[in-house]
Order: sequence, then structure tokens, then C-alpha cells
Amino acid sequence: MLPRPPRALRVVVIGAGMAGILAGIRLAEAGFSDYVIFEKSARVGGTWRENTYPGIACDVPAHLYTYSFAPNPDWSQTFAPGAEIQAYFERVASQYQVMPHIRFNAEITRCEFVQGRWQLTLADGTRAVGDVVIGASGVLHHPNMPELAGLADFAGASFHSAQWNHQVPLDAQRVGVIGTGSTAIQITSALVPRAAHYTLFQRTPQWVMAIENPLYSPAQRAEFARDPEQIAAIRAAANTLMVDFVSNAVIDADSPGMKSIERRCQQNLEHSVADPILRERLRPNYRAACKRLVFSTDFYAKLQQPHAALVTSGIERMEARGVRTADGVLHELDVLVLATGFRADRFVRPTRVLGREGLDLDTVWAERPTAYLSLSVPGFPNFFLLNGPNGPVGNFSLIRIAELQLDYVLQLLAQLRAGTYREISASAAAASAFEAARIEAAKKSIWATGCKSW
Ligand code: NAP
Repeated sequence: MLPRPPRALRVVVIGAGMAGILAGIRLAEAGFSDYVIFEKSARVGGTWRENTYPGIACDVPAHLYTYSFAPNPDWSQTFAPGAEIQAYFERVASQYQVMPHIRFNAEITRCEFVQGRWQLTLADGTRAVGDVVIGASGVLHHPNMPELAGLADFAGASFHSAQWNHQVPLDAQRVGVIGTGSTAIQITSALVPRAAHYTLFQRTPQWVMAIENPLYSPAQRAEFARDPEQIAAIRAAANTLMVDFVSNAVIDADSPGMKSIERRCQQNLEHSVADPILRERLRPNYRAACKRLVFSTDFYAKLQQPHAALVTSGIERMEARGVRTADGVLHELDVLVLATGFRADRFVRPTRVLGREGLDLDTVWAERPTAYLSLSVPGFPNFFLLNGPNGPVGNFSLIRIAELQLDYVLQLLAQLRAGTYREISASAAAASAFEAARIEAAKKSIWATGCKSW
């Protein structure tokens, strides 16, 4: 077979969050200068742009939740607040000249593979075309809205945690929060001190790992700026900790690491909650880290404040004055926050993606979303996902994961550019072998020990 000539590639990236910005930077570095990032919103930042709730922070150590090539000496503390992370992504996107490549307020509604190229349709009806599509649309941005009877009757303010209404006063108000995920736990820490009365509506208790979150002093930060090796050392230590202590532990439910996590969560509950009745109401009946581990400096302490209450009776309905629970009690509220999580199984959807011969991604994913190495779906050539199905794992840094995945995608793009191949996607055989191996491996993991988690 004659070698094919090298080929100029137009690369389309969906989403200007953490992974999309990363894709832009690394594409340009690798010489793929003809790229465009379509962003549905008016700003970069993805989940950090959308989530602005009080107390928002990243529970991955800040120096690890940072691009490997763009260390940040200015992180204010071990676990950075959300606004700092958002500012970091905006700064990096500008510094690395990604911004001119982004089309804002440009939501892609349809991608269709026609005669070897991806034809894209935007929400405003305009069209675009690309040889390669990189889906970097994130995981945690489609709010999971609970179906609460009577929600419209509630006379106070109500909103999802990812759609925070900053006009609504919180100080000295009666605030209720539904949920006990990382979001609700962080909101609890931030709002108990401000609310007149605080109510946490818990459907399922969470194991909580105690952490400390010390500030970096101005002197330390100056030192980091002067000597980046110090940042590298913190990053390496955090990486080792997260890999050894969390990632390698959760993939084997019987590992000593898992036992250690469980012990620490149990100790936190025993030592931090004085009232034995409250302690039992907060005790999960599944194993720690089966749901993604929650980290907190002070959740239990805040919940034991006299004006804070834990409600475990199921929510029956909303009424004008508050939440009526199954035990008949009306919990009167001024503000109700729905910290009820995200539709984490959406990935690139609701964008309609049609591959070879009209193959519909929604149909392929009808049972569950799958992708070879979380990156590539058979029948969808030159279409790659970052943090795709099974990509985001437990409590690890999604930045590190996206960087590794992008390294792999860039190797594939190099083959397309060189003309070695015109179309690349996982073969059906490779994808099903990978999925079978993944299912087998998951059986040993803590996630298969009996809990429901996103
Ligand atoms: P989540 O972990 O999915 O938690 C949602 C909570 O809402 C759960 O407690 C769930 O209860 C409850 N819930 C949902 N529907 C309900 C209903 N109809 N009635 C009553 N309760 C209901 O969501 P999240 O807290 O927003 O966190 C999602 C993920 O975002 C986290 O796991 C994490 O990856 C990320 N996050 C990260 C950070 C960070 O620091 N890095 C901070 C916040 C969020 P059940 O458990 O019973 O389903």
C-alpha cells in the first residue's frame, strides 16, 4: 500500500473547562494549531464556573489539582477554594493563548460523521466542521433535580447548589439543604455559622474523612515562587498519598489501605460526635469510600451547633412554609438548597453524536456509557473523550487523569496527521475486551460492596 500524504487536521474541542483548556494548550504545543474550542457558556472554567456555592473548595490537594506544566505558587491553602481555582483556569487559558481559539456561547447540539469529517451543528443553527472531535465537556454540570412534590408552593427561595442565587440573603435566615454529598457537606461548614437555623436533610449518611486545611503563609508562597522545586515536592507527596492511600486502596476492597480508610472514618465519627443517638443517625450502613469519600475539617462540629439539625425522616412534600417530612413535622425555612448532585452519566450528551453510518451514541450508551480506555467508542472515528465513561476515578485529581488521556489522544492524532490512518476508533473487539476486564476488576473494588453512588 502506498503511504498516504500528511494531512492538515482541524480539531474541534467541546467545552472550555479544565480538560478543554488543557486540550488547547497541548494541541498547540504538538503543532495542531488549527483548533477551536466550543464553549456553551460565556466563560471558561467548567464546573468551577458553574459551582459558586458558599464553602466551595477542591478536596484534592491544590498543588496536585494543578496542570503539571503550570504550577501555581499562589494557592492560599492546602485545599484551594473554588474561586481561586476558577481564577487559575482563567489565568492559564490567557497565558497559554487559548482564549483566541474559544468560541463562547456556542453550544454544540449535534456532531455527525459524514464522509470522513465531523459536521457540527450549534444551538443557534450555525454549522462547523472538524476532522477530529475531542469531547471535553466534563462530568459534573447537569444538575440532578429532585422531584419534590409541591416545590412550586414553597414561598421561600429554592435553587440547586450549582445554580446558586447570590441575590438571596443567607445571614440570620432559616436555611435547609438537601443532600449529604461533598457539596452539601461543604455548604454545611460554610452556612451553619451564618444561618439563624440550619437543617440538613439526609437520605443516606456519608463516611467523612477528617482533614486539616492549613493556609500557606505569604513567606511560604514567596518561597514557592522562588523555588518551584518545593512545589514539585509537595505535588509528588500529594500524588503518592492520593495514589497509595486512596486510589490503590479503593480498587481492592480487602486491601490494608481500605481497612485504614475505614478505620479513620470510623474514628472520626466516634471521636467527633458526642451524642450517641446523633452518631448512629450519621453512621452509614455501607463501607467507607463506596460512595466517593467526603473530606471535611469540621462537618460534624458544625452539625452539632445548637441551631443546626439533622433530619433523617424522608421528605414528603414542600409547602409554602417549608419541608414536610414523613413523620409529619414541618421544617420551616426561608431558603432551601438542593445539593442533590449531577447527572454524571451524561458525558458529552445531550449533544447528539452520530458516528459511522448514522450510529447514534445515545443508542450505543442506552444500557450504560462505555468507551475503550474511557477515550474511544467503536464506530465513532476520530472522536475522543476526556474524562469519559469510567475515566473519573474516586478521589483522584481529574487533571492528572485528563493529562494522561490527552497524551494518548495526541499519539493517535500524530498518526492521523502523518497519514498512517485516516480514521481511528477502538475496534469492537478491543472495546468489549476492555469492558469485560473493567467489569471483572470492578468486582474487587470498594464500589462493588453495596452502595449507590454517582
Ligand atoms: P452527590 O455526591 O451526588 O450527592 C447528592 C446528594 O443528594 C446525596 O446525598 C443524595 O442522596 C442526595 N439526593 C439526591 N436526590 C435526592 C432526593 N430526591 N431526595 C433526597 N436526597 C437526594 O453530589 P455532590 O455533593 O454535588 O457531589 C458530586 C460530586 O462533585 C462529588 O462526589 C465530587 O466528585 C464533586 N465535588 C467535589 C468537590 C471537591 O471538593 N472536589 C466538592 C463538591 C463536589 P443519596 O446518597 O441517598 O443518593
